[in-house]
Amino acid sequence: MNASLPVVVIGAGPVGLAAAAHLLARGLTPLVLEAGERIGTGVLRWKHVRMFSPWEFTIDRAAGALLTRHGWSAPDRSVFPTGGEVVSEYLQPLAALPEIAPHVRTGSRVVAIAKQHRDRMKDAQRNDVPFLVRFVDPGGEQEILAHAVIDASGTIGTPNPLGASGIPAIGERALQEHVFYGMPDVTGEHRARFADKRVLVVGSGHSAFNVLSDLARLSREAPATQIHWAIRRSSLRRVLGGGENDQLKERGRLGILVGRLVDEGVLHVATDFHLDRLETTSSGIVAYSGGRALPPVDEIVATTGFRPDLGVLSELRIALDQGTQAPVALAPLIDPNLHSCGSVQPHGAEELKHPDSNVYIVGMKSYGRAPTFLLLTGYEQVRSVAAAIAGDWDAARRVELVLPETGVCTTHFADEDAVAKTSSTCCGQKAEAAVQACGSPCCGGPAPADVDACGVQDLDAISSKFGCECGSAPLREETARSCCTA
Ligand SMILES: Cc1cc2nc3c(=O)[nH]c(=O)nc-3n(C[C@H](O)[C@H](O)[C@H](O)COP(=O)(O)OP(=O)(O)OC[C@H]3O[C@@H](n4cnc5c(N)ncnc54)[C@H](O)[C@@H]3O)c2cc1C
Repeated sequence: MNASLPVVVIGAGPVGLAAAAHLLARGLTPLVLEAGERIGTGVLRWKHVRMFSPWEFTIDRAAGALLTRHGWSAPDRSVFPTGGEVVSEYLQPLAALPEIAPHVRTGSRVVAIAKQHRDRMKDAQRNDVPFLVRFVDPGGEQEILAHAVIDASGTIGTPNPLGASGIPAIGERALQEHVFYGMPDVTGEHRARFADKRVLVVGSGHSAFNVLSDLARLSREAPATQIHWAIRRSSLRRVLGGGENDQLKERGRLGILVGRLVDEGVLHVATDFHLDRLETTSSGIVAYSGGRALPPVDEIVATTGFRPDLGVLSELRIALDQGTQAPVALAPLIDPNLHSCGSVQPHGAEELKHPDSNVYIVGMKSYGRAPTFLLLTGYEQVRSVAAAIAGDWDAARRVELVLPETGVCTTHFADEDAVAKTSSTCCGQKAEAAVQACGSPCCGGPAPADVDACGVQDLDAISSKFGCECGSAPLREETARSCCTA
């Protein structure tokens, strides 16, 4: 293949731009194609949300070095930026550097990638011909040949539907204008849509907690706002996480706050709710789970996670895990049934490669449907992938990232006082449940701050910290699975 052709990077988010920095450091020529009009369009969708990791874990090493060479002063390492600050203080300055700027095109949406003159069926000399990347910009359809392709297009543009079976609920499509997929800025940009309205939030992750706490704040200013919350799990306790002892501090603390809002009657929760139908009635939109109906609402917020858009890759030979839709070798390392964000192992080109060589899915999209992605692991991916594309497989196989034991998933929390007042958890609930599920009475003290028992490694950490043995490896795996999926 012609190595003088550019390496096309899809997406100018944190991982795509980091890829560009690593490719340049390797003497390769990147071409970053960004669908949005602005750098970091994906991150700007949650610009009002504070990250759960601080600046220290938000900046790629090669990108930071390039910026510093141009006199950029890095933000305070310990501060937790919002999405908007990540774009304005890091991604925009990075994309504007003279080394990077000529290689970035915004307003350019990649719509298909293929091997030149080889459809997916054709074997002959497949790896010898370049990639053909088709994209659409204001001038219409364009094509470019590429030596390699790095897909860093994220998943934020393809949210999961409300329907509990993975397909849109009956009536969901027809009600699109009343469903907000993602995280609305309910006290800012989207205030008018939600103030003094009856709102249903669907989902039970970190995003749902953020939206619920924002809506609660909105309801203090706009008291007619009503907040309903539907979760699929049968136990709210499990959803709220391990409180102060949760490894994901942000989730833990938000969990405490959300628990308090439920106790105070600000949030009306429906557990074991598998939304399968939406109906418009004269009193509002009614959500159903089988024969069970929720009170009518005006607006719905879907915080049901994201999935990768695999359409652009459909003419390539890509090997993905059937469940997570992550590259096959990566899938077991990130499976949310076994891992929480702090226990994902750093990995690189070896785990990310596909039957078609020189095409890599990186960043958020590489995790498929798994929500365990951390920027730090994405930066390690692109360091390794750039080395592999340059032919330096020794460097590609070396793991250079050592994830800190704690701190990556911790956060500053805006409503710290409110949380402190309500914090009374003495033993991480998941930790307790996990150890009890192991049949050991050893959960006598506080759960270690750096484990949340949502993975085998976490369970091992708990066992070792409590000085107890949580059974054989298969038993631990089984326990972690049941604990995390319960
Ligand atoms: C609310 C929230 C908070 C988070 N907080 C943290 C945190 O604290 N710490 C942490 O480590 N991680 C965090 N994450 C997870 C993750 O780090 C972010 O989602 C991050 O933005 C992922 O970076 P990315 O570059 O892979 O994807 P993105 O940032 O989504 O960038 C992908 C880019 O590709 C573009 N694109 C999409 N399709 C195409 C196409 N066909 N052609 C061209 N361009 C395209 C998009 O417009 C977008 O700009 C958070 C995620 C969310 C949603």
